[in-house]
Amino acid sequence: MRTAAPMATKEALQDSAQLSYHERFALPDADIILRSKDDVYFRVPSITLHMTCAFFRDALSLPQPASSASSGGVTNNNSPGVIPIDESALVAEQFLSIICGLGISPALLATFDDASALLHAAEKYEAPGVTAFVRACMGAPRFLAEPLRLFAVACRYSWEEEAAAALRLTLDIDIGKSPSFPVLATLPGPDLLRLLRVRWARRDALKAALDGPAFTANQDPYRCSTCQGMVDVVSWREWKWIMLDEIARVPSGETLLAESFLTSAKANAVFRPHCKAPGCENTAFNRELTIVRIREAVRALPKDIE
Ligand SMILES: [Zn+2]
Repeated sequence: MRTAAPMATKEALQDSAQLSYHERFALPDADIILRSKDDVYFRVPSITLHMTCAFFRDALSLPQPASSASSGGVTNNNSPGVIPIDESALVAEQFLSIICGLGISPALLATFDDASALLHAAEKYEAPGVTAFVRACMGAPRFLAEPLRLFAVACRYSWEEEAAAALRLTLDIDIGKSPSFPVLATLPGPDLLRLLRVRWARRDALKAALDGPAFTANQDPYRCSTCQGMVDVVSWREWKWIMLDEIARVPSGETLLAESFLTSAKANAVFRPHCKAPGCENTAFNRELTIVRIREAVRALPKDIE
């Protein structure tokens, strides 16, 4: 919803030339003066605001009071009014630099808090160019490093491509740990459900694969391929549950496929000789083939849900 607050509260100045302006926005020809909430002044051409921000386009089109020319009307070059805005000088500098085509240093858009403040301002002033600029920056490593926050932002602004990419990256995260809770708490229900459903789908798909015919020890009863004697494969069944717990914790499979996991004591127990028939001592599993098939199963897991 649109608010007319900044225009309604503009103040008159006797002499705008006396103000101390931000160094990038001090051109005397610029006919609009904005004042950040921390009292930094910015001179901006009204045509720029008109072209890039629907809010200002509408506000600047409103008839100015008859006294505006002498008491601070925004269209008067000799004695322009000041429009106070709620943003800090830092956010105002970024916002105005983008719409004026001046560009901004990556250091000024370094965190999600920086991006969120800009996106909020872009929404308020209806500046699609600022939103597009921030969106383009979201592919930087510093933002990809926090995929859960990226997913939240992408969902908030309906950026489907970024949301899908971020969702895949979240699969490396154990969201059951407290650092994830603040972001999870901000997600709307449908977005949270999407995040959870892909994790559930991956666990269910891995369970189906591990229970399938690709793993011969699922045969019940399992008989030794050499002597046809009965073989106890309880260690395989136990390891399957451990693998399912791990894929639920870190759904990408990165930890499950790590060498340390595949050579853990529980894993090694699966590949020890199991046939107890005298003189046989056959193993129930071929280690290499089993691990290849586990890797294949993990690679085939779904990365998103319909
Ligand atoms: Zn045997």
